[in-house]
Amino acid sequence: MYDCHMHCEHSHDSRTPVDDVVNIAIKNGLKYIAFTDHFDRDYLYDNSMDAKVRQLDMENHVNSILDVKKKYSGIIDIALGLECGYSTSSKQDYCEILQTIPVDIVLNSVHTIGGIDCYYKEYYEGIDKRQAYEKYLKEVLASVNVDYDYNVISHLGYVCRRAPFDDKVMSYGDYTDIIDEILHAMLRRDVSLELNTHTKGLDVPFLPYTSIIDRYIQLGGEQFTFGSDSHMTNRIGEKYDDVKRYLQSKGIKYINSYMAKVCRKHLL
Ligand SMILES: [Zn+2]
Ligand SMILES: [Zn+2]
Repeated sequence: MYDCHMHCEHSHDSRTPVDDVVNIAIKNGLKYIAFTDHFDRDYLYDNSMDAKVRQLDMENHVNSILDVKKKYSGIIDIALGLECGYSTSSKQDYCEILQTIPVDIVLNSVHTIGGIDCYYKEYYEGIDKRQAYEKYLKEVLASVNVDYDYNVISHLGYVCRRAPFDDKVMSYGDYTDIIDEILHAMLRRDVSLELNTHTKGLDVPFLPYTSIIDRYIQLGGEQFTFGSDSHMTNRIGEKYDDVKRYLQSKGIKYINSYMAKVCRKHLL
């Protein structure tokens, strides 16, 4: 198992100590884990609702992950990661800051649109499902084309997690043009599509919805990562087998991990 998306107490929404994550990962047989803690510069702009949320202590994050990398060397591969929350206003910050950090893997995520995390009900006020999902997908498209280097497009379909609609599904067929633009842009940049198993509240084992994954494969896409997006130790590596089985059923042979921003391919 290779888990490319995990959080520890360095993130504002996790209390799990770094060593606890590592020890459970070793116990569960993972070969690789990435500490991709929240780097939310998007919270600093656009009158964000999250302006007061604790920001990542970068120096502590870098030093403590580099320490555990050494400490557990030969037992488990540990990557220094970041989950960068994209927004138009914050993208310049990432361009400058990412260059200065010896990061192994960068996740490109969209949480916030116009200062509101689409986790909050306020995001959906006064708009219908199509508007809510299109606004989100446009932001994802902008994020795919950013100037800074990243390795993975994370949890495509994040907006569905807390959507207040009976039918939360984001089907490829309903958003064909914009999803094709996103997938083509990803193929041009040769970045990975994450299968993210943090899907509480949805009746699928992972995101994106399979119609979107299938379209990516149809277009020639074959770069995938697995991400549990765990914030507590009980979710580390969760539903890896579902992801593995699904990709195998589609004829995909490899799953990726990243070290020093270099893609490594592992036989499924
Ligand atoms: Zn996220
Ligand atoms: Zn995350």
